[in-house]
Amino acid sequence: MTEGTASDITVSAQEKPTFTRWLNILRAGTEAFFVRHRDRLAWVHLIMFVAFVAMIAGPLFLLDPPEDATPLTHFTTLTNFLIWGLWFPLVFLSVIFTGRSWCGVLCPMGAASEMVNDYGLKRPIPNWMKWEGTPIVSFLFITVLGQTVGVRDHPEAIAEVFGGTMLAAILIGYVYGQGRTKRPWCRHMCPIGLLLGVFSRLGAVQFAVKQPKPGDDRYQARGPCPTLIDIPRKKESRHCIQCFRCVNPKSEGGLKLRFRRPGAEVENIRDHSPHGAEVWFFFLGTGAALGGFLWLILPEYMQIRQWFANWTLGNEWYWIGNPGPSWLMSVHPERREIFRWIDFFMIVGFMLGFMVAFAAVLTTTLSLSTWLAGRLGGDHNFKQRFIELGYQYAPVAMMSLIIGLGSELFEGLRLLGLESQLIGVAKGFLFFCALLWSLRLGRKILIRQGTRNIWPPFLVGAIGSLFVGAAWWLAIFVT
Ligand code: SF4
Ligand code: SF4
Repeated sequence: MTEGTASDITVSAQEKPTFTRWLNILRAGTEAFFVRHRDRLAWVHLIMFVAFVAMIAGPLFLLDPPEDATPLTHFTTLTNFLIWGLWFPLVFLSVIFTGRSWCGVLCPMGAASEMVNDYGLKRPIPNWMKWEGTPIVSFLFITVLGQTVGVRDHPEAIAEVFGGTMLAAILIGYVYGQGRTKRPWCRHMCPIGLLLGVFSRLGAVQFAVKQPKPGDDRYQARGPCPTLIDIPRKKESRHCIQCFRCVNPKSEGGLKLRFRRPGAEVENIRDHSPHGAEVWFFFLGTGAALGGFLWLILPEYMQIRQWFANWTLGNEWYWIGNPGPSWLMSVHPERREIFRWIDFFMIVGFMLGFMVAFAAVLTTTLSLSTWLAGRLGGDHNFKQRFIELGYQYAPVAMMSLIIGLGSELFEGLRLLGLESQLIGVAKGFLFFCALLWSLRLGRKILIRQGTRNIWPPFLVGAIGSLFVGAAWWLAIFVT
């Protein structure tokens, strides 16, 4: 099956002619608009680049906002809200409705990485970069560093994390850009590229091949695609940043924009190049995000810290009580926040330890579910079934990251006058929807695997989803 043939909304034309006609008009109009104005995207990128620099550098030259500052009264508070309250959660959510349109249309980082191709060294992309785990490491590194430097609270930390990521994107584009149009950074290293990619599989938008060639997805260093997709063999949405470069309504080849039912690609994930790295990303990324949230609110964290402090003093490790470098940890005496080495080790250790424990629980439930599916007639071998069933956790993982890392979006609701309890209900409702979606995906994948009795593996898989929900309980209802 090729991308878009099984679940494309256009196949239900007889059932819902009016709805489908409107969708087709929207599809054709969107395609024509972006193809016609493709060359003008450079201006959009320039504006975004200027806005990006203003937001990360501007607050460095201002006095700290007063306690009662709001986004309307202080630029620093405004940029903080724009980054964490709007950009971060809304970019995540947007993949459900528009796929990776942020990457292809708006992101200044990817565009800058590509623009330096022309002047760069054009070195071959090394194998370590092509490793599927590289973007997971990149995500974990930035997530943990963000916590230790206090990226949510300090403009210096925002400048370091976002400015550093921009510089890294430009450097990778300069050294390994293969030609005018390539984005090895976006394909292999961007900390949020994989995140947007795996969740775009859930989305309602896809770019489908008009004349598919047989065979699986391939890596194509030549050709027009900036993320190195072999266009006629494209089956997965993950790497497509929706740049419209391979789209031409008048041509019989290339890709075309299509709408589909959200979740359709994951329900039939075996036809869309599933990969184990994505499942590990659901487990590890969600676990790290949760750990990054819980160390701030759990009293047990402070108890462990106290025990660790006593232990280090007993061993005469007095240096651990000293502040570290400010590029590695939050050292802001003027704001009464000074992290010491002990805080650094505790935060990193807690986040990574929690991540491992979280991943271990989900690996256990998924393994058991996979084994049961095999005993009950599920096809493929254990590893393939494991990977396919792992995608059922995509919705709960996505909602976890939105609620955990994008919590300022909900703080914005507080500014609109909503009570804490109502905000908790809103978070709980969103998480409940994600949970139901995960359960539905689990059921569909099991049916596709040919499992005779889906209930035993389904229920075990559901325990995993419920475990994610339980782990986020504090984040949803306590804060
Ligand atoms: S992959 Fe990362 S750098 Fe590239 S366009 Fe997307 S968000 Fe921007
Ligand atoms: S497949 Fe086409 S639309 Fe997608 S990133 Fe490649 S060139 Fe752009």
